[in-house]
Parts: sequence; structure tokens; C-alpha cells
Amino acid sequence: MTSKHLFSIIKAVPLSLFQNNAKGKKEKGKGTPMAVRRIFCLDMDCFFVSVERVLNPVLKGKPVIVGAKPDERGVVSACSYETRKFGVHSGMASSCAGRLCPHAIFLHGNGKHYTLFSREARAILETYVPVVQAASIDEFYLDMTGTERLYGPMLKSAKRIKRMIYRGTKLPCTIGIGSSKMIAKIACNLAKPDGILEVAPGDEEIFLRDLPVGEMPGIGKVMQEKLHEWGICNLGEVAEIPLPILKSAFGKHGEIMRVRARGIGSGNVNPIGGPPKSIGHESTFSVDSENPAMIESVLFRLAEKVGRRLRKKKLVARTITLKFRLSNFKTITRAHTLDQPTDHDETIFSVAQTLFRKAYGSRSRVRLVGIRATKLSINAGQLSLFGTEDELRKHNFYSGLDRIRNRYGFGAIVSGRNFKNAKTSA
Ligand SMILES: [Mg+2]
Repeated sequence: MTSKHLFSIIKAVPLSLFQNNAKGKKEKGKGTPMAVRRIFCLDMDCFFVSVERVLNPVLKGKPVIVGAKPDERGVVSACSYETRKFGVHSGMASSCAGRLCPHAIFLHGNGKHYTLFSREARAILETYVPVVQAASIDEFYLDMTGTERLYGPMLKSAKRIKRMIYRGTKLPCTIGIGSSKMIAKIACNLAKPDGILEVAPGDEEIFLRDLPVGEMPGIGKVMQEKLHEWGICNLGEVAEIPLPILKSAFGKHGEIMRVRARGIGSGNVNPIGGPPKSIGHESTFSVDSENPAMIESVLFRLAEKVGRRLRKKKLVARTITLKFRLSNFKTITRAHTLDQPTDHDETIFSVAQTLFRKAYGSRSRVRLVGIRATKLSINAGQLSLFGTEDELRKHNFYSGLDRIRNRYGFGAIVSGRNFKNAKTSA
């Protein structure tokens, strides 16, 4: 049996379809040994758009785009399937989306509503699932290992979870099931929208074999191009490439990619409250800027926001990544890893500033800047152990700053740097 053949069988896209052959799947589920991990990746379908449709049912079945309006600067945050056939996708400039799909209904969206719906979905999951991890506002990993005795086969559970989410929130979602987060995620992407797809234990390699290399999380554009140059198009071929060749071309990533292409995934489902992988903020200018002082003042504000969130979550970051996008949409990212992790605005900013000064060619107009903090770890009071007096002073300064901002809002304190440039840019 080819993997394509297998895939067409296990892709149980519409719920109603798999209801009919649920019995056949039951046998498979029963035979699953307890030791095999069963991870669900649950992703809400077109989340922002779906929430807007719950709040305003008139939008159902219509082309809807949440994000900036076409005559504004900014991007598409989410778009309905009705707009996707015209080539619209999230992250695209709204002006472009407006040209591709001029009849679309553009909505600004409301973050508060989305957060409420996300919390509701999570609360529902927590009543049923032993271990829930919110990977983002609309994506959850559920560790369902060992639940078969209680709940029956995995597909039955997935079906029930979908029904519970729909009853509680009126939102559609898709569930991918696999022996690792990676397999579950890929399965979920393939089953969208409103589907369920289970990759049975032991079928991982065959499931991946015919998939295009781009389906694998972590294989970005650059890697894809290189693989295509070699004539490698699908993951089965990646799994066959001799390790030394992959290693010399992609280093450590090459090794990881090969292991993953063989269906071996890692990554535990972190229970609720598990630390995030990264914290970032970005900002699109109202007018493209070629004024470095103005750009750096925005970077400072972003560094303040990143620092504040790190401190709020009691985390410190070792790697700071700067991103900026030019008016021609060329995007530049640069990262720097610190010797000591930090949650200080000043440190985050100074890294971002140094990276920006190195990478920014004069006369280029900048459209967007962003800062992301990664390699996060829990800030477990290193300060009292290793902290110098200067660090302690900074710590007190930031705690005070956070207290005031928590009480009166982020805008309650404007740093001198921002104030000055806010005036210049006004
Ligand atoms: Mg989603």
C-alpha cells in the first residue's frame, strides 16, 4: 500500500464521514499500547473570523477579513476560506487583499472578544483532557495518552471534543492526532477545516513519506529551496538523504529534519501555565520611515513591552531577535544570544539597537519593526544569588515601573527617549 493510498483512507475530513467508519477505527484504538503517546493538536478554524461570525451571524458564508482595512496600513490577521480562493492569506498587506478580493468584508477585530472565546475553549478542554497546553490563542496541544480506557478510542474522543467546543462556543475546530506534537500538528494542518485526522501509531513514516517538504514545521523557505535544488520534493526523500550531507548543508537543523522526516517527534505537552517559547512585539509605522532615531525610539518602546511581559511571566530571555521590514516588503531578521539571560528593557533594547545599526542600510525605508525574545527560562531568583548592586537597583526600578503601568496602563509612563521622538515624529 502506498502512503498516498493510506493517507486517503485516514484523512477523515468531515466529521460526518468518519462517523460511519468509526467502528473500524475502534479496533485500531483498542490495540494501542498505553506507552504510545497520543497527542491531539486542536486548532480553531479561521479563529478571529469564526468569532466575528458568532457575534454577527450575518457574516456567515461571506468573505470576511479581520485586520487592517484596504485603505489603511497593516496586514490581514485572519481571513475566511471564501477569501482564500482569491489568494488572500494572513500576514498579507491589507491593501493587497483588497485588490485580490474587493468584495470582502473587512473588520478591525476585537482582541478582547478573541481572548474570551479562547479562554472559554480552554476551560472546556480542561474539563475533559488531562494535560492541556495553549500553544497560541487558537491552538492547543492535548496529551490524551492513556485515556482510552476511560474515553474509548482516540477518534471518538476527538469527535466528542469537537462537539463540546462547538456546543460551548459555536466555533469550529480541527483536530490532528499523532504520537508527537509534530505529527499531530501536520495532521491538523492537513485536515483543515472542520476535520479530524488520526495518524495511527507506527504509521508516522508512511504518513510523512509523500508530503511536500514544506509541510514539516521548521522547514522554512530557504531550506525548501535548497532541497528543491537537490531535486528533493517530499519528506520521504529527506529521510533517505545521508546524514553527513544534510549536516554539512544545514548543520544541526539537518540532523533534526532527518529524524523528524522519519516520523520521530519530540516535545512534551506542557501543562497549563507552562512557559511560552517566545515573547515578541512588532509595530507597523503609519508612514514608512528612514529616520534611524525615530525607528530606534519605536524599538525602545517594543523592548519595554517585551521586558514587561517577561517580568510578568517571571521569565528571562537569552536570545533577542530583531526584525524589520522595508517598504518593498523585504524582511530582515538578526539575532543575538546573551551570556546571561535578561528581562531588562535597556538590555533588550541595546541588543536590538546594535543589531539594527549593523543591518540597516541608510536610505532604506522601514515599514515595520519587531523584537522577539527566545531561549526563555524561569527567572528563579538568580538576582539574590548573583546580583550586583546595580542589578538590584535595576530590578527595583523595573518592579516600580511595572506596578505603575499595571495600575494605570502602559502609556502612563513614557520614557524620555520615546517622548522626545514622539514629538519629532508627530
Ligand atoms: Mg487557527
